[in-house]
Amino acid sequence: MDWHMDIIEKDIIIIGAGPSGLVCAIEAARQNMNFLILEKGLLVNSIYNFPTNMTFFSTSEVLEIGDIPFISHTDKPTRKEALEYYRRIATAHNLDIRYRQTVQSVEKQHFKFEIKTQNQTYHCQYLIVATGYYDTPNLLQVKGEELPKVKHYYDDAHRYIGQNIAVVGAANSACDVALETYHKGSHVTMIIKEDSLYEKVKYWIKPNIENRIKEGSIKALFNSQIKEILPDKIVVSTPDGEQILDNDYVLAMTGYRPDYAFLKSIGILLDPDTKAPQHKEDSLESNIPQLYVAGVILAGDHTSQLFIENTRHHGQQIISDIKHKISADYA
Ligand SMILES: Cc1cc2nc3c(=O)[nH]c(=O)nc-3n(C[C@H](O)[C@H](O)[C@H](O)COP(=O)(O)OP(=O)(O)OC[C@H]3O[C@@H](n4cnc5c(N)ncnc54)[C@H](O)[C@@H]3O)c2cc1C
Repeated sequence: MDWHMDIIEKDIIIIGAGPSGLVCAIEAARQNMNFLILEKGLLVNSIYNFPTNMTFFSTSEVLEIGDIPFISHTDKPTRKEALEYYRRIATAHNLDIRYRQTVQSVEKQHFKFEIKTQNQTYHCQYLIVATGYYDTPNLLQVKGEELPKVKHYYDDAHRYIGQNIAVVGAANSACDVALETYHKGSHVTMIIKEDSLYEKVKYWIKPNIENRIKEGSIKALFNSQIKEILPDKIVVSTPDGEQILDNDYVLAMTGYRPDYAFLKSIGILLDPDTKAPQHKEDSLESNIPQLYVAGVILAGDHTSQLFIENTRHHGQQIISDIKHKISADYA
């Protein structure tokens, strides 16, 4: 048997079926290009794994892609509405998405990329990496972090009712989680490395959390860090010395980062300070010719700077560059 029979060939392969991967695919389809998306999980896998009752901080119009209106019940959509919206996008544009395809390696041979997932090899001329950051949490790096009671992802409050929980972090997610679990009856202590909440906590969350802390319903330890996690306690270093607190769950809302090891394995160079993938401003082509980077991955460590709303034009930038290169090849 000729082993080449098994290889799937496309002009463009997009890694990641998040909003950015979808935008790239829609633009490629508009230009009648031959493409597919490889997704390791589900459609908009990161959004699927967001907190169950989450409401976006962006209004629905700025999350719209592919010229399809995003109708939500209030100005800011919920996770559930976003899942339905992006499902409609994928079906309305009839996008070719191959699920459960985790890209494990990418090699460039001559002018083509060879992409391997766990069970399939693909070849393409142009590759777009739109893998986001939500799969790689920033770890606390303390003893006991591997215990099952430590969560780097929050689903909903029910599991935590009546229990002692420590919420680590001071940004939007930590404040949201502290408020939601407190309102459902958890005993919440926030452990905050800095001397205050993150200054950019959204204006509709900030007064609520500040007042809960002021009245003592939510305890906050500032300038403090977890030193060790034990099955039913945590050890916290505070300005007043070490404290040992009763603890059932640690919710580490300490942010996420792109999978740098994956990017480096492909050969993408990272900025030494920000770890943003090296790329051309106009085309988003990386240091590797014909390989593009799209979406929030471009922020490197500064994940709070890029969102759906300020990355949804990436597809147009990339596909117009590819179109230009293809026409130059035929000229
Ligand atoms: C809790 C939270 C709330 C947010 N709220 C907002 C908001 O209100 N407004 C806003 O504009 N932005 C928001 N963001 C930020 C950002 O817009 C979203 O994270 C968005 O999902 C990023 O889109 P993306 O397509 O760049 O990446 P992602 O949506 O993360 O998509 C990446 C995709 O790549 C897949 N993938 C990763 N590695 C591989 C691999 N090796 N092989 C195959 N597939 C792979 C993943 O499974 C995933 O589906 C929020 C982020 C978080 C964490």
